[in-house]
Amino acid sequence: MCRIHLAVALPIFSIKIYIVSFNKLQLIEPVLKALHQQGYHQPTPIQQQAIPVVLNKQDLLACAQTGTGKTAAFAIPVLQLMFLHKQTRVNENKLKQIQTLVLVPTRELALQVEESFRDYGCYLGFHQLVVFGGVSQYNQVSMLRKGVDILVATPGRLLDLIQQRKISLEAVKYFILDEADRMLDMGFVDTVRKIIAYLPVQRQTLFFSATMPAPILQLSKQLLVKPVKVEVTPPSSVVEIIVQSLYYVEKTNKRHLLVEILKNPVLKTVLVFTKTKYGADRLARDLGRSGVKADAIHGNKSQNERQRALQKFKDGYARVLVATDIAARGIDIDQLSMVINFDLPDVPETYVHRIGRTGRAGATGVAVSFCDYEQKICLADIQKLIGKSITVVKDHLYDVPMMHPQQRSENHYSQLVHRKRSAGKRYGRVFMQASVKS
Ligand code: AMP
Repeated sequence: MCRIHLAVALPIFSIKIYIVSFNKLQLIEPVLKALHQQGYHQPTPIQQQAIPVVLNKQDLLACAQTGTGKTAAFAIPVLQLMFLHKQTRVNENKLKQIQTLVLVPTRELALQVEESFRDYGCYLGFHQLVVFGGVSQYNQVSMLRKGVDILVATPGRLLDLIQQRKISLEAVKYFILDEADRMLDMGFVDTVRKIIAYLPVQRQTLFFSATMPAPILQLSKQLLVKPVKVEVTPPSSVVEIIVQSLYYVEKTNKRHLLVEILKNPVLKTVLVFTKTKYGADRLARDLGRSGVKADAIHGNKSQNERQRALQKFKDGYARVLVATDIAARGIDIDQLSMVINFDLPDVPETYVHRIGRTGRAGATGVAVSFCDYEQKICLADIQKLIGKSITVVKDHLYDVPMMHPQQRSENHYSQLVHRKRSAGKRYGRVFMQASVKS
């Protein structure tokens, strides 16, 4: 078995797996130019399958999760169809109305989808707007008055604005429901159904979901007319392209271990997941005291604070972003060096979503997890879901037998504390020898 040093292993994690070129997808010049500007050279598998279907004006049922390039898979062809339509119907007064509606479950995803439309459509001259709750509706409403071609929205605020008659969906030609299964998880399905009732019957619908549980399949049947079904990367197979490793570590030592890992200068942007909002804040503060620039995002922060933290992280002003699951959904950061599960999630699927923040669009990624005694059951569930054992990074300090806390005698525990204290000084040196199996 080949053993490679963590520091030298990282540069190889950027292998791409695409085969067809964008030129073969009948895309118009301004779109190709924008894609070139984005540095996209080849379509991802979901793009290869979905773009021709959408350009052919058919409904689409796509089973694809975040990280596969699914946003471009719907945004690119919809922008092209809108553009061609605009050219043939210049005088139509409906052009000032919303033609494309994208419904997404979270604010972060809404912002990212809107940014994607802006990037891919930068030579097409459309107006796009994002609306979500948690902020004043004043600016959103004044932008709507000026005229919007593409609206990206979360369900609650959208329904609210429709009911206030600030938004009309009667001119929508393209409706995209993104991350439908998350809509279900977050309890939005009833709101989505209410919104659908305001859409015109004559439209093209694109339905994206990572998984297809029964209620979602049923919703898709109501929404789609003779859809073409495309499917890429089943949810748990994202783990195949991400190098994962695991530390068994006592709760009280997690912070020290994190700081040690962060001493590796190759790690430029690191996303750390904690279980609680309080834990996220505290960890970001502690990292700051240790000289690591870090910010926290979670559900208790205002939307502006969350966006500011995310932007600082994306721009490289904060090296570490500490997040809880609720705030981290849909986060998309190019070139994320590593995801660290400071706490393992209780729900095993969440592990797959979290590590999927790295390894985006066919690139491989790196994910490290910390597991304390109490999380052994979570770890077993995760390994069952992903169908493999996560490689344990051997470290003498944390290489202690895993057992239930109640099974541990006071004596054993105090021995452990003693071992850790006496070994603490040697820890940094030992970590540098830690290796990852490949
Ligand atoms: P998504 O699955 O839409 O969240 O996309 C994941 C990431 O892949 C985003 O950072 C996109 O910018 C990137 N991406 C999408 N399509 C491509 C492509 N064809 N080539 C390279 N990167 C891409």
